[in-house]
This record gives sequence, C-alpha cells and structure tokens, in this order.
Amino acid sequence: MKPRRGSLFVISAPSGAGKTTLCQRLCERLSGIKHSVSFTTREPRPGELNDVHYTFVDKDTFRAMAAQGDFVEWAEVHGNFYGTSRKRIEEMLSAGLDVLLDIDVQGARQIRQNAADCRFIFILPPSMEVLRMRLAGRMSDTEEVIERRLRNAVKEIGEYKNYDYVIINDIFEEALTDLVAIVRSERCAISKVDHAWIEQQFLKEG
Ligand code: 5GP
Repeated sequence: MKPRRGSLFVISAPSGAGKTTLCQRLCERLSGIKHSVSFTTREPRPGELNDVHYTFVDKDTFRAMAAQGDFVEWAEVHGNFYGTSRKRIEEMLSAGLDVLLDIDVQGARQIRQNAADCRFIFILPPSMEVLRMRLAGRMSDTEEVIERRLRNAVKEIGEYKNYDYVIINDIFEEALTDLVAIVRSERCAISKVDHAWIEQQFLKEG
C-alpha cells in the first residue's frame, strides 16, 4: 500500500475543559499522531521547553513570520500571539503522520476556511458549575477576573456548532477513549483509503 498522507485534527475548548491533558494523552496512547508545536510571543511557564511546548519568539519575529505567510493560522489570545507553522504541519502530513492542532476558536475558523481535509473537535467541561470551579481554583484571582474568564469561555463555547465532534470531559478516561475513536475512525475513512491497492489486490481481473 502506498504511504497515506496524514490527517489534520483541530481541537478547541474553553480554558478549564482539560484540553491540554487530553491532547498529551492522545499522543501517548496512539502512534502516528503528533502535536504541532506552535509559535508564541508569551513567556514560557515554569517547566516549559522551547521547541517542545512552544517555540517562543518576540513580537517582531512573530509579525515578520505572519507577514511572510509562515502561519496557516494565527491569533491573539489573552494578549499574546499564537501561530501554527505551515512548514511544520506540511512536513508531518507528508510523512504520513496525523497532526493535532491545539488551537483557539479564532484559529480554528481560519483553518476551516483554508484547509479542506480536517476534522474539528470541541471539548466541553461537564457543566457550568465545574467550569466556574476550575477557573476560580486556578490562582488567587479576583471575582472580576474569574467572571471575565467565564464570559470568555461562554463566548468560545458558542462556537461549538462549527465543529464536527463534541466531547464532554466528565470522566477523563471516557473522554480520551472518544478522542482516540475519532482519530481511528478517520484513519478508516473512504477518502483515506488506497484505492489503487484495493483494485490491484482484489478487483483486477486474472
Ligand atoms: P496557553 O498559553 O495556555 O498555552 O494557550 C492559550 C490558548 O492559545 C489555548 O486556547 C491554546 O489552544 C491556544 N493556542 C495555542 N497555540 C495556538 C496556535 O498556534 N494558534 C491559535 N490560534 N491558538 C493557539
């Protein structure tokens, strides 16, 4: 069989839905899928490594890259720029790897307009109460900051209908199983099948 081209998966969620852990565990659980390392202008958090979690660049470098068309999508999220490298995803897809983009709803919108072959997955928290608790429990933020985060989260959730799949992250293992199932089913899609191989193996006369 000829090596297949990888598929693109976009995953978005409001912060507090558990998206990052789900994405990490998906890549550990399933071979042949890799997270695309984004570029960002935000400062690294403790423990974050350059070119592993993100490629950290300054705003001038980011703007120059955006102007050159280096990103398939980019967006400003919470005051910082984030962008997906066109070159990185193309290299992985051509090598037959599935590619996971952990990006916000603005970035997903741009990919939807430009990339034909892509699956969009939205992760939801189990309830509004849980989301509020998770956002409140993060740091010693004021009530006002928590309310702002919650309003942002609701705005993001408003985009769920533009996605192909919705996963509710209540019981983590179940949510992960759903995510694995979505990727696996896409690998069996008729659009991904090597038709020439099937013809040759089974349908060629003689
Ligand atoms: P964080 O700074 O917490 O790692 O990420 C903040 C938000 O930026 C998350 O919603 C994450 O999905 C999003 N994000 C990360 N990389 C990209 C990217 O390359 N493009 C876009 N549009 N969003 C991104």
